[in-house]
Amino acid sequence: MYTVTDPATGELIEEVPNSTDEQVQAAIDRVHRGYASWRSRPVAERARIVARAAELFAERSDELAAIMTLEMGKRINEGRGEIGIVVDIFNYYADNGPALLADEPLSIKGGDAVITKGPIGPLLGIMPWNFPCYQVARFVAPNLVLGNTILLKHASICPRSAAAIESVLRDAGVPEDVYVNTFASSKQIPAILADPRIQGVSLTGSEQAGISVAADAGKNLKKSVLELGGSDPLIVLDTDDLDETVKAVATARMRNCGQSCNAPKRMIVLADLYDDFVDRLTKRVASVYLPGDPADPETKLPPLASVAAADEVAAQVETAVRQGATLRTGGHRIEPGAYLEATVLTDVTPQMDAYYEEIFGPVVIVFRAETEEQAIAIANDSPFGLGASVWGTDPERGRRVAEQIEAGMVYLNSAGGSQADLPFGGIKRSGMGRELGPAGIEEFMNKKSIRL
Ligand code: NDP
Repeated sequence: MYTVTDPATGELIEEVPNSTDEQVQAAIDRVHRGYASWRSRPVAERARIVARAAELFAERSDELAAIMTLEMGKRINEGRGEIGIVVDIFNYYADNGPALLADEPLSIKGGDAVITKGPIGPLLGIMPWNFPCYQVARFVAPNLVLGNTILLKHASICPRSAAAIESVLRDAGVPEDVYVNTFASSKQIPAILADPRIQGVSLTGSEQAGISVAADAGKNLKKSVLELGGSDPLIVLDTDDLDETVKAVATARMRNCGQSCNAPKRMIVLADLYDDFVDRLTKRVASVYLPGDPADPETKLPPLASVAAADEVAAQVETAVRQGATLRTGGHRIEPGAYLEATVLTDVTPQMDAYYEEIFGPVVIVFRAETEEQAIAIANDSPFGLGASVWGTDPERGRRVAEQIEAGMVYLNSAGGSQADLPFGGIKRSGMGRELGPAGIEEFMNKKSIRL
């Protein structure tokens, strides 16, 4: 069952039945049928449709933001911000897609060749609830321009976002057999991946979902792109404005109520700044991030996406404290709804679960490092490798530290953002493959070598 439950109140709003096996088969049939004509349209024509989708996303920004607020508790202003990035992504691939897909001539031993860049076929997208529109855009915009067709299974708490996105694409001129939304359950995914008509899968979500989907894709010799969790480090080397640094760090961690895969989650502060940093961060978190209605633009701390998510994060905090961590502020569930107080933890050691696991909620952990080398060692002591950020006044030092961090992305003096033209993705248990930028259109591309 796909279910809309308002996380601010716990009220059940709507239930949408899962697609039956027959409906899933019909949906696969459609994206398979749609592929032949979509791939043979000129790239410029596909790009024009994608550009029109960007316009419609912009026009429907308020409506889409309100749906996200209702379904997963996103602050209304953040929802509008999310649609802004969606618009950028659709425009980026509409503008740059044709050049990115241009033939690549190659001089080879004994003659010439050309690499052509084409689609591979119908793809499955499995998307999460944390950025219901942005996550879909990262996968859909480049693949529509490339000529692949898409079967989309959204998170089961986001059926209205799923339907609204399908409407935007339809109204922009994406044919109805080129982008198809399905309300499949995760139990139906193995059969979809076993179907010879589906050529690849992109999943954004948890490690467990990633393991399951990658295994099914591998069993069927299909490519998978996985954007999974992260526990990104943020290293503070030095600062000439501690208050500004603390503010930026808190803002980055609390964005989307802490439910961003690439939010900085482990703050690693050099010893001479540590005490002051923790004091000011704790004061800021406790005084600024107060719970409120996510539909009110003044609210700073919305609910988490669901009561289950809030309970899980509260339990992670409780375990950390039981295992010896210091709770500086927050940590308590607030009811009704899926609220959790904004939380700061310190004195987390490798013996505690919180040291290695991802905490997907409004919880900051601060570590103390005696030296730059120790800061890098703590940053790398993680099963994840999505993003990282390094803060300091010396750009060369920042760059030197950045190069030693095991992550797919490192930001200097900014934290955990995302933009259309910058590749996004991780290493280690954060997944494989890249989205966005030039790399994002290559994952499901047939780079065909033609020997002339
Ligand atoms: P899930 O991984 O469970 O959900 C993401 C998507 O995967 C949903 O569409 C979900 O469907 C689907 N899914 C879940 N299990 C399977 C499966 N076995 N086979 C196929 N599809 C599956 O994420 P959660 O909602 O449980 O979020 C929990 C954790 O996920 C977070 O703590 C975070 O670590 C990670 N996460 C990471 C995100 C990122 O941006 N990288 C985004 C969201 C979550 P359904 O909703 O029907 O279960």
